[in-house]
Amino acid sequence: MVCALPSISCCTISSLTIEKRQSLQSSPKSSLGTLETQLLHKFNSVSELKIVHSLLIKSGTPLSELPLSRVASVCALTPSFLYAQRIFQQVGQPEIVTWNCCLRDFAESDTPFNAILLFHQLQRHNVCPDSFTCSFVLKACVKLMDLSHGRIIHALVVKLDLLVNLVLQNVILHLYASCGEMSDAILLFDKMSQRDIVTWNTMITQLVKKGDIDSAYKMFSEMPDRNLRSWTAMIAGFVRCRKPKKAIDIFKEMEQVGLKPNEATVVAVLSACADLGALDLGSRLHDYSNKSGFKANVLICNTLIDMYIKCGCLEAAKDVFEGMKKRTVVSWSAMIQGLALHGNADEAFGLFFRMTQAGVNPNGVTFIGLLNACSHMGLVNKGRAFFARMTNDFAITPGIEHYGCMVDLLSRAGLLHEAHEFIKEMPIKPNAAIWGALLGGCKVHKNVEMAEVATRHLHELDPHNDGYYVVLANTYSEAKKWEDAARVRKLMRERGLKKTYGCSSITVDGLVHEFVAGDESHSQSEEIFEKWKQLLVPLRLKGYVPNTSVVLLDMEEDEKEKYLFRHSEKLAVVFGLINLAPRETVRIFKNLRVCEDCHAAFKLLSEIVKREILVRDRSRFHCFKDGSCSCKDYW
Ligand code: ZN
Ligand code: ZN
Repeated sequence: MVCALPSISCCTISSLTIEKRQSLQSSPKSSLGTLETQLLHKFNSVSELKIVHSLLIKSGTPLSELPLSRVASVCALTPSFLYAQRIFQQVGQPEIVTWNCCLRDFAESDTPFNAILLFHQLQRHNVCPDSFTCSFVLKACVKLMDLSHGRIIHALVVKLDLLVNLVLQNVILHLYASCGEMSDAILLFDKMSQRDIVTWNTMITQLVKKGDIDSAYKMFSEMPDRNLRSWTAMIAGFVRCRKPKKAIDIFKEMEQVGLKPNEATVVAVLSACADLGALDLGSRLHDYSNKSGFKANVLICNTLIDMYIKCGCLEAAKDVFEGMKKRTVVSWSAMIQGLALHGNADEAFGLFFRMTQAGVNPNGVTFIGLLNACSHMGLVNKGRAFFARMTNDFAITPGIEHYGCMVDLLSRAGLLHEAHEFIKEMPIKPNAAIWGALLGGCKVHKNVEMAEVATRHLHELDPHNDGYYVVLANTYSEAKKWEDAARVRKLMRERGLKKTYGCSSITVDGLVHEFVAGDESHSQSEEIFEKWKQLLVPLRLKGYVPNTSVVLLDMEEDEKEKYLFRHSEKLAVVFGLINLAPRETVRIFKNLRVCEDCHAAFKLLSEIVKREILVRDRSRFHCFKDGSCSCKDYW
């Protein structure tokens, strides 16, 4: 590119020209001096080109010495286009070859529109395009998502009978697909008499981007050959549409055919591991990354931090973070958020201080982490201070998530009226998450009136979400307002809403086992129930009393107990105690919040069985150890 080269000021040129003109006049046939030779390769404008041109003539140097691609790029978009054309004619090189180089450079530059402008120049001056011309302009169209010019070039390709060229067909396909014209892309794809791996990969990648994972997977299954790009696109696709288990299955299949993951594959699979809590595979990929020299890849390190945090391995996340030579705001924010999820508020604040000392500017995500840290530990004043600092010190406008964090912080702390006032004064319209946070606080602090206020808003904003009805019914049950609880459940039935069942998963020997509440379908069910019965003896001795108030339904106490003992997280923990190696940590992932009864039981259990039990629920981590939980019972 022209602009990449150092420019020579006009002043240098003119002074040089005067000096050299004198020497040239005395010996017109002399060859070029060092300065002129330098100029010959560094001219940056038409006027500089003209000086060089005249120097060449005067020194008798052949015109072919001129770097033609530079001549093309300097003249391409100026009225001197014709001047350049004449030079090419004199040199005797087919001019389209030179213009194509220039087009390619334009298409790959930050200003791809120049390629389209040059293409118009070529048309105006009757320069006949070839397949390279078309492919470079099409690449510029793809970059610009310029479908209208793209269609013109497509028509030209047909007119010039160039459509047999597979490279061109692939670029046109890419253009339609990336501009969202999937039906045109599919039409072209179906008509193509030959396809290569690029064709298939283009379709798969674009279908994945559109979120049409089923069609993408169908293509992937049908394609004759697959390369690493195809596999990676498919894995990333399943991660994107929140099917991490399928992503990991595909990855394992890829390994079986003997392909080694590249950096993009590693990032995609690590994200799947994070979503699924698949720590074994995640750590294996970590080792692989270190061995493959991916250690300096910031994106991989950031994904590793996220994976370790979501798998509950805070120490491993810290190791990755501390080992990074270069960190981005994403790395800092991920680590702060991780510390917050694990209830290490002080460490999160310390890291924030280090971050600002290191001159890294926090962003909105950083503050979500900080506010979460405050919220999980009930640090109301600190939270208010961060919320104010965000705007005052860092000029970050709070988004809906930040308001959500504040409502969550106030509600959890029992400041329900203040939270309600805060919502009413928000400059943006509160969404369902905001009212949901208030409702959550109402349940913890057993405030039925405020729960009704929050639910009224939730009815309007998110009528099909059953979660809120369940919380409201729960709040009524806990206040022993059975009739109201029954009314809400009836409403849910009438509206066709079903309760989302608690679901907990645990990985043993690389296999994920899922349990839903009341599950009797697992092959080890009998063993699990028996083991729980045995554990109840020391549990009761340590003071465990089943907290049947968390059971929504109005039924006999012993029925309630049976119901309670089959909560999904209990089933998963007991399954872990049976199947994991003696001192191995039991890691559970639950889709909803862990309930009070399971929380109380796990604290005692961690002491009885002398093991760490780690539960990641919808909002945070609970690490049960030696009879207490890392949340210090504030959750
Ligand atoms: Zn429970
Ligand atoms: Zn806890």
